[in-house]
Amino acid sequence: MNSYFDYNATTPISPAARDAWREAAEHFWHNPSSLYREAGAAKRRLEDAREALADRLGTEPERVVFTSGATEGNNAVMAHAARRQAAAPVVISAIEHPSVREAAFREFGKECVTELSVTPRGAVDLDLLAAQLENGDAPALVSVMGANNETGVIQPWREMAVLCRKHDVPYHCDASQWIGKYPMAGLGESCDFLTGCAHKFGGPKGVGFLLIPEDAITDFHSLVGGPQESGHRAGTEDLPGILGMIAALETHQDAALAEARVGRLADRTAFESALVERVPGTCIIVSEVDRLWNTVMFVVPEHPNLKWLTRLANAGFAVSTGSACSAGRGNPSRVMEAMGLDYEEMGRVIRVSGGWETTRADWMALAAAIEGVSTDLSSGSRQSGVDLGA
Ligand code: PLP
Repeated sequence: MNSYFDYNATTPISPAARDAWREAAEHFWHNPSSLYREAGAAKRRLEDAREALADRLGTEPERVVFTSGATEGNNAVMAHAARRQAAAPVVISAIEHPSVREAAFREFGKECVTELSVTPRGAVDLDLLAAQLENGDAPALVSVMGANNETGVIQPWREMAVLCRKHDVPYHCDASQWIGKYPMAGLGESCDFLTGCAHKFGGPKGVGFLLIPEDAITDFHSLVGGPQESGHRAGTEDLPGILGMIAALETHQDAALAEARVGRLADRTAFESALVERVPGTCIIVSEVDRLWNTVMFVVPEHPNLKWLTRLANAGFAVSTGSACSAGRGNPSRVMEAMGLDYEEMGRVIRVSGGWETTRADWMALAAAIEGVSTDLSSGSRQSGVDLGA
């Protein structure tokens, strides 16, 4: 039984990625920038990987920059936009990952960052973006994610990309939670900048990628130093990591993703129905909205979420609070706040996120375990549990 339900935080490495990583670590460990034969072989594999990724994204390999993950990519995109247009504002959504938001604050200054609010359904309001682009000062960049990591709500990235293009404003999409779960076709064409990280889709940790637009090819840089990645990102490339990432992606072909999603959605719906039936008073957050097929966020009827997490952990289940705090600990989740939850409710939020290998039986076992915790808590049991932190 698979009782890991925190795939939005990270995924286990897939067998294909592990094999590709190991093979490269054993046979292609040479520095791709060196000039002897073995280095040339490593360089060829690096460029093949770039082509394979560009192909999946429907774009040119020159736009692909390999990075250490989405945090680096998001920081680099903000820094680039600020270098280009320091005096212009930047537009992000109120539910961006901290690696977008904090980077925007640092590069532009808080007063120059417009945070688009989301509707109570958890998606960015397109009308607000349209109004901003029509009436406000032209921003240096619009950055809105593909899907939210806490609620799973799919954002209207295609429509936003079209709007931005109409106004000649670069659009950046943090697609960390999209890639590996949904088809990638169209992303490269629609988005000027795009970031992703391998460990969210079965690849190794500490590796990711960034797409830059053609007009940034001459002046874009993430890290400065050596001339690697055509001068866009200095530092010896992690070839085993990159080949592991591409192997993980190859196990998620677009057609199969589109087809398999239907069954996975049915499994998730079965879980949600079982949950609200078995634990009366539980509320699924934005249940009717288009969300990632693997993600459910819900508010339990009573007791702080950490009590539930501790007991679930003792029963062998790994779930998360998202970044929602429990009452009195940590900061409230900005995502929940943006969607209008009150502080007390935020302390009762639980996020579960499954993977491709999660079966309906796994989801049902989780529902049964949550019911068990509910009974346990209602009976006032004082199980000590493990300390999970905030
Ligand atoms: N963006 C989103 C939407 C994420 O969910 C995450 C990871 O939680 C990141 C960015 C950062 O990814 P990494 O820690 O791999 O750099």
